[in-house]
Order: sequence, then structure tokens, then C-alpha cells
Amino acid sequence: MRCVVANWKMNLTSHEARAFCEDLLLRMAPDPGAEIGIAPPYTLLHQVSELVRPKGIQVFGQNGHAEPKGAFTGEIAMPQLRDAGCSGVILGHSERRQFFGETDAALTQKIKAAWQWDLLPLLCIGESLAQRDAGQTLAVLGQQLSILAETGPGPLWVAYEPVWAIGTGRRAEAAQVVEAHAFIRAELNRHLTGTEYRVPILYGGSVTPESFPELLGLPEVAGGLVGGASLDSRKFAELVKQAG
Ligand code: PEP
Repeated sequence: MRCVVANWKMNLTSHEARAFCEDLLLRMAPDPGAEIGIAPPYTLLHQVSELVRPKGIQVFGQNGHAEPKGAFTGEIAMPQLRDAGCSGVILGHSERRQFFGETDAALTQKIKAAWQWDLLPLLCIGESLAQRDAGQTLAVLGQQLSILAETGPGPLWVAYEPVWAIGTGRRAEAAQVVEAHAFIRAELNRHLTGTEYRVPILYGGSVTPESFPELLGLPEVAGGLVGGASLDSRKFAELVKQAG
């Protein structure tokens, strides 16, 4: 089954979130045939969970701390995400890496903590424009996935998100997506060989209802992680329909 996850980032108030969810549920088929997730800001987790989880939509945190509790002002713990109705957590989003100093070492601990609290990690990886221009794309992806040698195997979704395609309206070209996803699959096979885990690889970066059908037709593209277009319930419902 394909997956579509909305990353709302630091957007929407409770009034707007309610309107979004009600409209999405009206537009969605009772059995959409896709795995759907919404990652709201923390203040909206309870509310969104109550609205959408009964309809089979998963709720994701946008980040989570490796420690279960403690003196970490401004952070959120995995058990708190669970308590708020989450079944998964986005980890390693490029905005966290870029603006909040998220490191691979921290992500190793966060993935382990997510598993401990029965949350599905959605690990984001991707190269910057400078890294792509320097021919380092696959090396960067390999490095970002190498933390799986430390975490060991477990349930996981991965999103390939070229940093230069996020929020820019500049989607990666088909050949670039195919190359990256094939490489990621090979790396995942290497790290998870002999285990039961089959990891879906989502694409993220300026996905819209106009571009999604082509992306979904590419090998090893199991769905999308969507920022901007996921703030519009009409567009997100269309993406869900396309994935189904
Ligand atoms: C994202 O933030 O994960 C993302 C893909 O954003 P956008 O769709 O706006 O590029």
C-alpha cells in the first residue's frame, strides 16, 4: 500500500486544523486504499488524533527527544507523542538538521527511543544543492542511512527529500528520483538483510497533485511526504486519491 504523509510544520491553529480534517474526511473515500498520515504541530496532536484516527489516518509527531522525560525545555518526548495519539514520528527532517543542529548521532538515539515507545520513525534523508552539485548525493544518502548499522533493524519508513526541492516549487526530476531511490533501496537491503522489514521509500520535495502521479509511477517510490500542498485539504485529498 502507498503512503501519503502531511507535514504541517509550524502552521495552522486549532480552528483551521478542525476545518481541514472535517473537509478531508468528507472528500475521502471510506477505504482510501493508501496509508495516510498527518504530522501536526504539537499543540494540535490531541485534537487531530481524535478527529482522524477513528477513520484510520495515522498521526505523526514532527520530532521527538531520545529521553523519555526530563529537563529539556521546548522538547517533546516519545511517550508524550504516544499519549497525544501518535503512532509515528518524523525524524531527521532537513529543517531540523539545518536549523536545529540535528545530528546523525542524535537520530540514532531517537530512532531507538521511537521503537521503545512503539512509534514508527519516518526518517528523512536528502542532499543539499551544494552536495548535489559536488557529485556527493549518493555518499550523503549512504552516510545518513549508516545510522541503521547502529540502531539495528526495526519498523521504519524513509523519505528521500532533496533539500533544494523542499518548499521551493522545484521538484526533483524523474531520473534523479529513480537514482536516489534505487540507491536507498540497495542500502536498506544491506542494513536490513535477513530481517522481516520492508521499508517504504517516500519522495518529498514540492509534491503537488500535478506532479504526484508521475512520481508514483517511478520504481521504488512508495508515496510522498508533503509540506506546502498538505495545508490545503482539497489538494491533500487529491494526493490521497492518487495514492489509493
Ligand atoms: C517537507 O517539508 O517535508 C516537504 C516536502 O515540503 P514541501 O512539500 O513544501 O516541499
